[in-house]
Formats: sequence, structure tokens, C-alpha cells
Amino acid sequence: MQLLEDRIRKDGKIREHGSVLKVDSFLNHQIDVDLCKEMGKEFFRLFGGEGITKILTIEASGIGIACIVAQCFGVPVLFAKKSKTKNIDGSVYTSQVHSFTHGTNYEVMVAKEFLSPNDRVLLVDDFLANGAALQGLMDIVHQSGADLVGAGICIEKAFQPGGDLLRQSGLRVESLARIAAMSENGITFC
Ligand code: 5GP
Repeated sequence: MQLLEDRIRKDGKIREHGSVLKVDSFLNHQIDVDLCKEMGKEFFRLFGGEGITKILTIEASGIGIACIVAQCFGVPVLFAKKSKTKNIDGSVYTSQVHSFTHGTNYEVMVAKEFLSPNDRVLLVDDFLANGAALQGLMDIVHQSGADLVGAGICIEKAFQPGGDLLRQSGLRVESLARIAAMSENGITFC
């Protein structure tokens, strides 16, 4: 998506010797809702015919964009919570995720009452890197018996393995900007 690629080139900040892209001025801290609306429309163009009933994301950075995508689809947004408590009463689906940005493992959970076998789910996230966050969400959807339609990603770092692994596993992954390479000298899109 040209608009997003242009914005990344203009305002993205490359950190950690080219492994991390900061987009705090328009997606991860301050949010450009007009840009998000355009991304939402593009996801609707790609997945609008799939009978999606729910958008699923993961807290915290996916929630903003997921809300706007959900508005484009006219369905609720559900976000997996990063839980510190154990699943004692069995009322939640849980999965383990390894955080790329923090280098730690955490558990995510979704209340069973909000995801059922009648749902058709689109996963939405701001970034795709190694794919751990999406794998955790996929695991939760599978536990619920809902149909997993695919994943809509704003920025895929295609030099990391997540996108390829998930596509090979059969998931439809649509990324609006795919970065082939990144360094202090600039960004190359796929
Ligand atoms: P994955 O689980 O695919 O390795 O990483 C996805 C998650 O890590 C995203 O939800 C995002 O929050 C975070 N992430 C991964 N790489 C980057 C990056 O380069 N920049 C930012 N801002 N977040 C990232």
C-alpha cells in the first residue's frame, strides 16, 4: 500500500542496527486515524467478502488499528489480554507467546464467551516479525472452534521468518507494507 510505504519512509525510525522499526508518530504511540482508516478500507477490500464476524488482535499496540478495521467491517473487535493470572475456572482460552520486542514469554487470554464456533475471525496486528504473536492468536481461535479466515498486517518485516512460516502453514496473510531489508541507510520494500 503506497500510502503506508511513503509514511514509513518519511516518519519511520530504524533502531537496533536495522532490526526494529519505530512508528511511534503514526501507529504505535500517536495514531494517525486517517491513515488507519485507509488501511481499514484496504483490509475490507481484501477480506470484505469473507463473512468476518470478529476482528481479533493482541494488546496493546494492535488495538488502535484493529478498532478502525473493525469499524470498516461493522463487527466487534476482541483483543487478547496479556494475563498475569492463571486460568483457574476454565472460562478463558490461553496461549503462550514469545515477545520479539521484550525477549520474554507471556500468556495471552480471551474469554470464552466472546469467541465461539459460529465466528469467522480476521486477525489484525501492527507488525509481523517472527510470527509468535499471530501463532498465539491462531492457537486461541483453534481452541474456540471458530473459523480462521486470515491475518491483516500493517507492516511485515519480511526479512524475519514469521510471514513465510504462517503462509506455509496455510494461513492467508495480507500485509500492507512488506519490508525486504532495513538498515541505517534506509528501507527496501518487497
Ligand atoms: P512477532 O510475534 O511476529 O515476532 O512480533 C510481532 C509483535 O512484536 C507485534 O505485535 C509488535 O508489537 C512487535 N514488533 C515486532 N517487530 C517490531 C518492530 O520492528 N517495531 C515495532 N514497533 N514493533 C515490533
